[in-house]
Amino acid sequence: MQRQKSKKLFAKAKEIIPGGVNSPVRAFKNVAGEPIFFQDGSGPILQDVDGNRYIDYVGSWGPMIFGHSYKPVIKAIQKQANIAIGFGAPTELETELAELVIERLPSIEKLRLVNSGTEATMSAIRLARGHTNRDLIIKFAGCYHGHSDGLLSDAGSGMLTLGIPNSPGIPTQVAESTLTLPFNDLTAVQQAFDLYPQDIAAVIVEPIAGNMGCIPPKEGFLQGLRELTSTNKAVLIFDKVMTGFRVSWGGAQTLYDVKPDITTLGKIIGGGLPVGAFGGSSEIMDNIAPVGEIYQAGTLSGNPLSTSAGIAMLKNLNSASYVTLTELTGYLCSELQQIADNHEINITINRACGMFSIFFSDGPIEQYSDVMKSDTALFNSFFHSMLNQGIYLAPSPFESGFISLSHNKEILKETLRAAKTAFAGLVKLQKAT
Ligand SMILES: *Cc1c(COP(=O)(O)O)cnc(C)c1O
Repeated sequence: MQRQKSKKLFAKAKEIIPGGVNSPVRAFKNVAGEPIFFQDGSGPILQDVDGNRYIDYVGSWGPMIFGHSYKPVIKAIQKQANIAIGFGAPTELETELAELVIERLPSIEKLRLVNSGTEATMSAIRLARGHTNRDLIIKFAGCYHGHSDGLLSDAGSGMLTLGIPNSPGIPTQVAESTLTLPFNDLTAVQQAFDLYPQDIAAVIVEPIAGNMGCIPPKEGFLQGLRELTSTNKAVLIFDKVMTGFRVSWGGAQTLYDVKPDITTLGKIIGGGLPVGAFGGSSEIMDNIAPVGEIYQAGTLSGNPLSTSAGIAMLKNLNSASYVTLTELTGYLCSELQQIADNHEINITINRACGMFSIFFSDGPIEQYSDVMKSDTALFNSFFHSMLNQGIYLAPSPFESGFISLSHNKEILKETLRAAKTAFAGLVKLQKAT
């Protein structure tokens, strides 16, 4: 596969953009490659600047749940762009999007829109601290909550991909206010509350972890977090920037029957445009300015283009969407497992509705330390073989794959044919070493 134009564009980008990218994981560093520059997307298919065709399993990191260039979203954006792009004043669209979210997520009474997931979680933390008058935050290793100072310790996604445990540039006092514990480990959370019964403002968690690969919660984990936070008067934050409207109609919170105090959202609710949101009970949310004193603001927050796209997206999703996604993902993953087994390659696949991850190690994969057992050399080889056969997976062994409603059986079968070749290549690699 020739990628001369991508190569050229990357070289040029590197001269004036750090690393040539505007978000680190895009750089292909962890797979020892160079990023592909795309120019076209339609349904499950991407085309790069060199005219190569790929089946996409990144989906813009989650938002493209209908596939690329989904007509209702495109039309909504076009229609709105012809009317007005923004005022920095309220529009009805904001209320309409908030209503659509609140109808579906029973724990939210009031919602505020922001421009990214990072902003949503950062604001949720400030709200939790202001509401409880406490400082400490519990997060889980390998969970990623955006790149704000307090949430970067042992974070997933690009941090994990690039092997950066803690970012320079974060004041020690800020880093010290975050306690990082193992995902799926309630005992550790209990111990933290025993140690600091009066000081923990919030527990923030991805209810289904997606940024160290896909790791569903163990039975009782989320319920346990709910009980411990309630008992200790701390705020429970579900960061559903990735999983919101990705795993079920009512979100992970109805799937597991646990209601958080604050929910953060992003990705899908912007239909692919920049967006974020955080919401909760009126009691908590009314601490925010202009009602309360906790300050939070945004010039382009709730802008008409993002809200129009998000409204079109949510209106077209229904409970059947998630049945379809679960079926498609189940089919792909069980066939992949079968092919790997046939080639005696050790893999463990985790999945949740339209998300999945292939770990090149024995299971179960339940937390960050399990993820680190993955054979990254095998992943690399698998990744590049798939890529050269036109299958675009996330360029990191620590990210989730996303299936869209446009990935039909034919597309999945084409992917599986490529996987056969890729796994056969791994057998040779294993024999050679
Ligand atoms: C993507 C993501 C974020 C950050 O969102 P941005 O829009 O990239 O700032 C936060 N939390 C989770 C769970 C995410 O997946």
